[in-house]
Amino acid sequence: MNLELSEEQAAARRLAKDFVDGEIAPNVVAWDRAEDVDRSIVKKLGEVGFLGLTIDEAYGGSGGDHLTYCLVTEELGRGDSSVRGIVSVSLGLVAKTIQTYGSEEQKRQWLPRLTAGEALGCFGLTEPGTGSDAGNLVTKAVRDGDDYVINGSKMFITNGTWADVVLLFARSTDAPGHKGVSAFLVPTDTPGLTRRTIHGKLGLRGQATAELALEDVRVPASALLGREGKGFSIAMSALAKGRMSVAAGCVGIAQAALDAAVGYAGEREQFGKPIASYQLVQELLSDIAVDVDAARLLTWRVADLIDRGEEFATAASKAKLFASEAAVRCANNALQVFGGYGYIDEYPVGKLLRDARVMTLYEGTSQIQKLIIGRALTGVSAF
Ligand SMILES: Cc1cc2nc3c(=O)[nH]c(=O)nc-3n(C[C@H](O)[C@H](O)[C@H](O)COP(=O)(O)OP(=O)(O)OC[C@H]3O[C@@H](n4cnc5c(N)ncnc54)[C@H](O)[C@@H]3O)c2cc1C
Repeated sequence: MNLELSEEQAAARRLAKDFVDGEIAPNVVAWDRAEDVDRSIVKKLGEVGFLGLTIDEAYGGSGGDHLTYCLVTEELGRGDSSVRGIVSVSLGLVAKTIQTYGSEEQKRQWLPRLTAGEALGCFGLTEPGTGSDAGNLVTKAVRDGDDYVINGSKMFITNGTWADVVLLFARSTDAPGHKGVSAFLVPTDTPGLTRRTIHGKLGLRGQATAELALEDVRVPASALLGREGKGFSIAMSALAKGRMSVAAGCVGIAQAALDAAVGYAGEREQFGKPIASYQLVQELLSDIAVDVDAARLLTWRVADLIDRGEEFATAASKAKLFASEAAVRCANNALQVFGGYGYIDEYPVGKLLRDARVMTLYEGTSQIQKLIIGRALTGVSAF
């Protein structure tokens, strides 16, 4: 693997850095306090091409490889995880899955709007009673003539109240466990689908996280994505790539923690000297720096494997596990460098810690990543 970026990759990273510094950084504190990102950011993300990365140009995408996607995602994560999550879900979990599994009609219907930022997608897998055990979800889709009628509920859905389409997973056959699950593309204005914003989150406060309720939601059979009964494997393949995106976002959080901590340590004086001159503070900084490099390299390896068409799922679990735990450590260490000032939201590190905390939970908790890695090592599944 060549770690030197191509000219195109370096240019995409600069573009993302400028976008974050110009469009995101000035608003981060206000959005966090208001628990609401300014929705106009979606259109801007589309215009700059970030919602179409790795999507074919024929469907309005901006193409590019997965390392470019990671570079942009890392920058967005450095700026604001709430914005990074909009892209990771609408592009990473929804648009890419439509590109891989969708019919020509489904691709034409959704991809140009999703990549342009004219529509947003959300990923509806988790339910109130099934999180890690998603294969046992209970939302039901019953065939009725040329339609399916869907009943059930979904929990913790990122972009939920903003989205125009839900990639929804529901049980549509009598086959047991994950074998009975199918994937559907459900427009959010379909009668019977209601959404409620979840407030009071520890972090990602600007992000629209929602609970979805489905009561006799009728969709045509053409809303089925991929083959009936293949929904769970579609979800797992989407999440495997999604874990790379979460890992890249975590590298962004860790890098932001490093930048803030190094800057502050150079300016803040105690006992007549900058605190950066004290070895115990340097230990905190060097611990963060090593975590940043290790998390980034694990993440880039996943992108390299995907771009070369190699098996990548276990590497993605390793990257997601390490990078998410590292992001929490790095933000926590940075907060220590800031002392009491780190504890108030005029300084960036408290938000980094709050935003980092969810990364070890969603798209498979750290425990679930360990079980996936353990299964790959032993051939024995704990699920
Ligand atoms: C802010 C936010 C955004 C989210 N966005 C989305 C989204 O867009 N779409 C979506 O579908 N979901 C989303 N989720 C849901 C997320 O993926 C789940 O929260 C996650 O999968 C964990 O499920 P759970 O919360 O039900 O925890 P549980 O599965 O109940 O787990 C609780 C604890 O038990 C542990 N555990 C469970 N099973 C095992 C086991 N077999 N062995 C060892 N330990 C185990 C877990 O690791 C965890 O520590 C989001 C969640 C949050 C908080």
